[in-house]
Amino acid sequence: MPSSEIRILPAGFQGVVGCGFRASGYNATVSANIELSDLLQRLHAEAAADRSGHVATYIPELAKADSEAFGVAYCTADGRVGVVGDAEIPFTIQSVSKPFLYGLALDAHGRDAVARRVGVEPTGDAFNAIITLEQQTKRPHNPMVNAGAIAVASMVPGAAPADRLNHLLEGLGRYAGRRLHVDTAIYLSERATGHRNRAMAHLMLNFGMLEGAVEDVLDLYFQQCSVVVTARDLAVMAACLANGGIHPLTGERALDQGHVRDVLSVMFSCGMYDASGRWMHEVGLPAKSGVGGGILAVVPGRMGLAAFSPRLDDHGHSVRGMAVIRAISGALGLHVFGG
Ligand code: GLU
Repeated sequence: MPSSEIRILPAGFQGVVGCGFRASGYNATVSANIELSDLLQRLHAEAAADRSGHVATYIPELAKADSEAFGVAYCTADGRVGVVGDAEIPFTIQSVSKPFLYGLALDAHGRDAVARRVGVEPTGDAFNAIITLEQQTKRPHNPMVNAGAIAVASMVPGAAPADRLNHLLEGLGRYAGRRLHVDTAIYLSERATGHRNRAMAHLMLNFGMLEGAVEDVLDLYFQQCSVVVTARDLAVMAACLANGGIHPLTGERALDQGHVRDVLSVMFSCGMYDASGRWMHEVGLPAKSGVGGGILAVVPGRMGLAAFSPRLDDHGHSVRGMAVIRAISGALGLHVFGG
């Protein structure tokens, strides 16, 4: 499919996307969709001109990504999906998985039990910072940095590693609305080179902050990062969070409504690591990025946005992905504190 082609899926044109369009009835809503997709196409073309950044190489398999690939997708809370460009190219979810795993832990154990293992404070540090445990509690600061995500991975329920992986895949699959799988080559590459993550896990083990066998926990974390998605999937997953935890197309509940707020709060304050403050200021949407080149943002009550482009900035965020979501938020006035 050419990079600029637009498709709007599915043709369930009821309701209105709340982005400045006033529409009622079939024709008005079709035109709202077309306007949104036109806008997306224009902003995609503008962001595509930026060729800065570099594909992640510290996980050797990630270096094989097509650095030119670039897709954008949206999914409204009432289930309308639009995609532009390479929105159906598979890539690994990486850290975009973290808020969803945090949600799974909250649903499985409740807020208090999860809070004993991981905090909610922004670190202002990089995603892989080593010194990242709170002084008093010895918890990792938040579930968006690697240490916190590893602590959360240790809370995935299941008797054996295969059961825990299955729980994780089923949980992520409820958000995506389809069964997801692990890219084995990337998983093995992460596992072979994940020494920093191993160091953090052992530090937490030292303080009694990890459940289960440390190598099993790390394996599950590496598998979690290696789950294969598309930009379209990420938009739909974000739309579940925009829609109070319910998948807008399947109607299935992916996350307890009471935990949606917890997940969005840490995404808002910590999801973009040491660029979170600037992102919150300029874009104003809870978001999460991953070193595979994926990024998603949630417009509460309205829609999920996502992009995929593997060239990353110094913080590990997709350059074009950030640019296009920033531009969409600006154009439609989506900042949660006012357009
Ligand atoms: N698997 C990556 C790591 O642990 C995830 C980092 C990211 O996507 O930010 O290093």
